[in-house]
Amino acid sequence: MFRYCPSCASPNIQFTENKRFDCPDCGFVYYHNTAAATGCIISTGETIVLLVRGKDPAKGKLDLPGGFVDPAEGALDGLRRECREELGWDPETATPGAKFSLFASFPNVYPYKGIPYNTCDMFFTITAPGLTEKDLHLEADEIAGVRFIRPADVNLDDLAFDSTRRAVKAYIEYLHV
Ligand SMILES: [Zn+2]
Repeated sequence: MFRYCPSCASPNIQFTENKRFDCPDCGFVYYHNTAAATGCIISTGETIVLLVRGKDPAKGKLDLPGGFVDPAEGALDGLRRECREELGWDPETATPGAKFSLFASFPNVYPYKGIPYNTCDMFFTITAPGLTEKDLHLEADEIAGVRFIRPADVNLDDLAFDSTRRAVKAYIEYLHV
């Protein structure tokens, strides 16, 4: 990603351990650390909520609501923010007493404009009995639509990312459907 040292412009900068840049000429060090990201499996009872991605990477594929955790933000606050941004809906406000529960965590590589971001994806479950599309307000242009799908009917090949596929697969196995 850096072909020249951002500090001294040396071309000798090296990328090591799949995470750090070292410049042998000026001592510059930069860690391209794993980023935290979240996803949530919202169960309406019969179905779970999947989004249709409106932008690359994986435009048109299905994804769980969620996204990168912002600086100075906790995972749960980040997930609530993503739900508000992507769905126009806040699960904890909409369903008093509803809480996110950590369900699984898997690594992912999120390619964005040619740069691979290693992420640690944390997947949470939450229940929203009776939720329908009418309760949601999809405004973000990164979202092309929403699907309510019975877990047993989810085609794992339609999911955008390896980590999401593993999380939904684990959820289906957990439900024994
Ligand atoms: Zn340097």
